[in-house]
Amino acid sequence: MPADAIYLEMLNPEQRQAVEHGVGTNAPGPLLVIAGAGSGKTNTLAHRVAHLVVNGADPRRILLLTFSRRAASEMSRRVERIAGKVLGVSSGAVTDSLTWAGTFHGIGARLLREHAREIGLDPAFTIHDREDSADLMNLVRHELALSSAASRFPTKGTCLAIYSRVVNAQEDLAQVLKTVFPWCAMWAEQLRSLFAAYVEAKQRQNVLDYDDLLLYWAGMMAEPTIAGVVSGRFDHVLVDEYQDTNRLQSSVLLAMRPNGQGVTVVGDDAQSIYSFRAATVRNILDFPTAFAPPARIVTLERNYRSTQPILAAANAVIEKASERFTKNLWSDRTSEAKPLLVTVKDEADQVRYVSEKILEAREGGVLLKEQAVLFRTSSHSGPLEIELTRRNIPFVKFGGLKFLDAAHIKDLLAILRWAENPRDRVAGFRVLQLLPGIGPGIAGRVLDAMETGPDPVWALQEAPAPAKAGEAWTGLVELMVRLSGREVVWPIELGHARLWYQPMLEATYEDVQVRQADIVQLEQIAAGYASRDRFLTELTLDPPDATSDRPGVPSRDEDYLILSTIHSAKGQEWKAVHVLNVVDGCIPSDLGAGTSDELEEERRLLYVAMTRARDELHLLLPQRFYVTQQTRNGDRHLYAQRTRFIPRAMTPLFEDILWPPVTPIRADLQPASAATVDLGAKMRGMWGAG
Ligand code: ATP
Ligand code: MG
Repeated sequence: MPADAIYLEMLNPEQRQAVEHGVGTNAPGPLLVIAGAGSGKTNTLAHRVAHLVVNGADPRRILLLTFSRRAASEMSRRVERIAGKVLGVSSGAVTDSLTWAGTFHGIGARLLREHAREIGLDPAFTIHDREDSADLMNLVRHELALSSAASRFPTKGTCLAIYSRVVNAQEDLAQVLKTVFPWCAMWAEQLRSLFAAYVEAKQRQNVLDYDDLLLYWAGMMAEPTIAGVVSGRFDHVLVDEYQDTNRLQSSVLLAMRPNGQGVTVVGDDAQSIYSFRAATVRNILDFPTAFAPPARIVTLERNYRSTQPILAAANAVIEKASERFTKNLWSDRTSEAKPLLVTVKDEADQVRYVSEKILEAREGGVLLKEQAVLFRTSSHSGPLEIELTRRNIPFVKFGGLKFLDAAHIKDLLAILRWAENPRDRVAGFRVLQLLPGIGPGIAGRVLDAMETGPDPVWALQEAPAPAKAGEAWTGLVELMVRLSGREVVWPIELGHARLWYQPMLEATYEDVQVRQADIVQLEQIAAGYASRDRFLTELTLDPPDATSDRPGVPSRDEDYLILSTIHSAKGQEWKAVHVLNVVDGCIPSDLGAGTSDELEEERRLLYVAMTRARDELHLLLPQRFYVTQQTRNGDRHLYAQRTRFIPRAMTPLFEDILWPPVTPIRADLQPASAATVDLGAKMRGMWGAG
């Protein structure tokens, strides 16, 4: 090892084995690091990349696949810190050349654009998000006359979910219908023709949906001539959070490294929480034997993140899991402070508790950004966001840039996407119907003409102006000619689009000023991207985070609290963590209706949430959190019970408190059955009724 590679000495022996595995040899064999939360998997992966670079690997030939773009840039920064120092290169040099770090979908989009011509794809393809995909599915459903309400054919969302499952799990439609969507099984034949037509429509329009980014990548790797070229671009492929990949992703990975050389994956089967997107823990369990010779396996058992009492509680929750590969972790971070189980009256008290504790911690020197509030579903943070705003506590919500879903922003984005790809029917449909007097019928005819002709924009110019559209029509045609031309400058063209859109905005909405402010925000975000296609791709694949005052990632020295769903909090850690609504009906989300597999996934979700905390963990149990239970007699609303994953027997591992401490809040919530006298029955008895 180079004399100054002291970073190796910071690692424990197992981590070091993983970092040094095969480095310096021509072809390191496949490596799997499988270990529990906070044991340093991501850290080991970063050290491995740094160690490879220090030992002469070309960072431009390293492919690093992470679960979010945020995780990728965090990893690049770590690599920079470790390797940059040893190599004595200027700051940013390593990060800048580690260009292939991103998510499977993001990397797929880039590789497909670069190799599009070789696989008969037009590189100007646009990417549909889930909503666009559902809209297209709907258009196709109509064309095939499958959507009549009377026939009770599955909704567009269900159709898309089935399609996506088939693609991602690499399973046969009949199999997916049988195991996941049994109530749709009677429609198998119609669904098959719907999906065939959907695929055809996407191809005609040159659009790819999320799943296509993986599917086409996999398809590209199945072509021997091109597969060699693509996999030959990389010497190393490393994947974090491998437990949350699906079949399609693992087949892409194997195709990128058919003999396993230079491939490293790390993960934890106890943290697998994405099976609703067809992720399968089998990927990580089958990895060792996917190659010959088989992969080397390294396991880590020491947790460096959490204090011992937090870890003990998390271990207890996961210990009850039915199937598990990774072992219990240990930590030598002693502490007197047990994790807190905080019972509060309702959601209002819950947000008061959280805000007060966060401010207290800040008084005590814990920055806001060292604290996080986690929740099951994005919508659960609503009351908290209001309270934080009221108290002037700045926050950032991961992936929460809601305004991208607003109609006027979608309108503007559709204009850009249509200009990028004039065959994109969903975008065109949206834009055309902004014009006065244009409905689905006329829009459909214009789009038909554009779809069939050799030059769609020319077809648009040639189309007869619809009677009532007036000047807006001429303006639109001019705009499309201009934006689809070569000489457009990003992001100035967004200004052109906005100018054309302004009268439509004013005619459609009353709160024009608020909406204009959003558009200004969009322009600020747009300025951060080098080109229109980069802007559209990244906004679709990984939208920026939302801060309490404006969008975009706050600069590093700003202080802000983190709000995140548990799913998006994967891989991260904070000094203090609050988890909202740790009650049955929320975690687990479904009251007993789910299968045992689903229930196990909910348990792992709680485990992921708890293991994000380093020093302080607060689990909140609002007693008046209404949960709905579906019964044969309709929905029933119940008061929440504490989550079944923390049964009474586990209470000694926690500090069990009521908040606010003085008011006895339980008395008024006693269910009627606990009453000693049932006066109601007595009254009824007076009239001879039971
Ligand atoms: P998760 O399963 O949540 O993704 P992980 O296994 O990837 O966790 P890391 O995030 O890499 O764990 O590490 C957890 C914490 O432990 C980090 O703060 C990291 O800096 C620290 N850590 C890891 N290895 C060591 C070590 N050898 N010495 C000191 N600290 C370490
Ligand atoms: Mg990690």
